[in-house]
Amino acid sequence: MASNAHSRGQLRAERQVPSSKGNGGGPPLSRPRSSSAKRSVRVSAEDDNDSGRVRVAVRLRPKNAEELDLDLTGCVELQTEFKRLKLKKNNWSSESYKFDEVFTESASQKRIYEAVAKPVVESVLDGYNGTVMAYGQTGTGKTYTISRIGKDDPSERGIMVRALEDIFAKRSSSFDIVAISYLQLYLESIQDLLAPEKTNIPIVEDPRTGEVSLPGAAVVQIKDLDQFMGLLQIGEANRHASNTKLNTESSRSHAVLVVHVHRSLEGKKETDVSSLTNGNDLTSHHVPYISKSKLLIVDLAGSERIDKSGIEGHMLEETKFINLSLTSLGKCINALAENSSYIPTRDSKLTRLLRDSFGGTARTSLIITIGPSAPYYSETASTILFGQRAMKVVNTIKLKE
Ligand code: ADP
Ligand code: MG
Repeated sequence: MASNAHSRGQLRAERQVPSSKGNGGGPPLSRPRSSSAKRSVRVSAEDDNDSGRVRVAVRLRPKNAEELDLDLTGCVELQTEFKRLKLKKNNWSSESYKFDEVFTESASQKRIYEAVAKPVVESVLDGYNGTVMAYGQTGTGKTYTISRIGKDDPSERGIMVRALEDIFAKRSSSFDIVAISYLQLYLESIQDLLAPEKTNIPIVEDPRTGEVSLPGAAVVQIKDLDQFMGLLQIGEANRHASNTKLNTESSRSHAVLVVHVHRSLEGKKETDVSSLTNGNDLTSHHVPYISKSKLLIVDLAGSERIDKSGIEGHMLEETKFINLSLTSLGKCINALAENSSYIPTRDSKLTRLLRDSFGGTARTSLIITIGPSAPYYSETASTILFGQRAMKVVNTIKLKE
C-alpha cells in the first residue's frame, strides 16, 4: 500500500496542471485530461499497480437454490492468497488465471466496494475521471454488485450507493456539487432513467477538451444519500417499465450512472444550482472550480452469446445490434491492452460515452462476475478471457503541453 501511495504521488505530480488564475498560491490544480491530447507518456512499470492499468477483479456468485438443488458440479476454484482462479473444464483439464483481486462467494459487498471501487472514487475526488464496470453472464451478480440499493439492509448496498456515500462523506465543504444522470443504453439508443420520456439522447464530444456530454439528459443535483437512493429506485422502476414495453429484459441493456463531482475553491459563494435539472450544463456557474470530474458506474448487459438459431429478419437484425456496445467495449479494451494508438471508441454508444472516463489519465476498475457451476463453463471461460485481456491495459498519460 505504501509503495502504491508513493507511486500515485509521483503520478499525480506529473499530471498537475498549472493554475491559470485564481488559485491564489494554493495547491496546483489538477483536472482530467482529454484523450485528444498530442503527447503521450507511458506509465512506468512501477505504476502498473496503480492508476495506469485497468484493475480487474473477479467475483464468484454463491450457488443459488436451483444449483444447490440439482447439486451441480462446480467449475471454479479460487486461490485467494495468490489472487488466482482455476477454471476446470473437466477432471483432467484446467487453466489458472491471475487477477488483481479474486473474491469468493462469501465476500461482502463492503469488501468488494473497498477493493474495487473506492480507489476510483478517491481518484474522482482528486479531480480525475473514473469508471467502474461489471461484466458477466446474466445471473452472475452484476446488478447485485453494482446497483443493489439495500434499503432495508445497509450491508447489502452495492457500489453505486457506497460510492455516493463515500463522496458525501468526503465533501470538503458545502461548495462541492454532486449531480447525477442515470441512463439506459439499449439497441444503441440512450434513454433517461430519471426522465423516461427522454429517449434517443445524443452524445456530444467537445472537440477542444474531449469532454463528453449528453444534452437533454436530466442532471440532478444530489443533496444527500436518501435522495440518491430514491432516484436509484425511480431509475430501477423506469428500467423495468421500459424493458417491459420494449419487450426485452434488463439483461440486454446497459445501465449507466454518471456522477458529476465539482469541487470549488473554499470561501467562494455557492451559486444557486437548484435549477439544474436539464442538460449537462454544470459549467455555466460562476464558482471557480478546482476540479470537475466524472465517475461512471456501469451495469453492463449480459455477456452471454445470444442464440441466433430460429431468429430471422428484423429480430435477427436486432440481435446483431444488441451486443454491439459490448463487442465494441471488448475491442477498445484489446486496443488499450496492446497500447495501440487508435482506440476505436467511435464504434458504439457505450464506448463513446466512456471516451473521457476510460483510458488516458482516467482510472478504471472492471469487475467480472461469474457463476460457480459447470454447465456454464463456456460462458464463464469467455468472461474470464475478457477479464484477462483487460488486465493488460495500461492507460497512458496524455499531455497536451
Ligand atoms: P445479473 O445482473 O448479472 O444478471 P443479478 O445481480 O441479478 O445478476 O444476480 C442474480 C441473482 O443472484 C439475484 O437474485 C441476486 O440477488 C443473486 N446474487 C448475485 N450475486 C450474489 C451474491 N454475491 N450474494 C448473494 N446473492 C447474489
Ligand atoms: Mg442485471
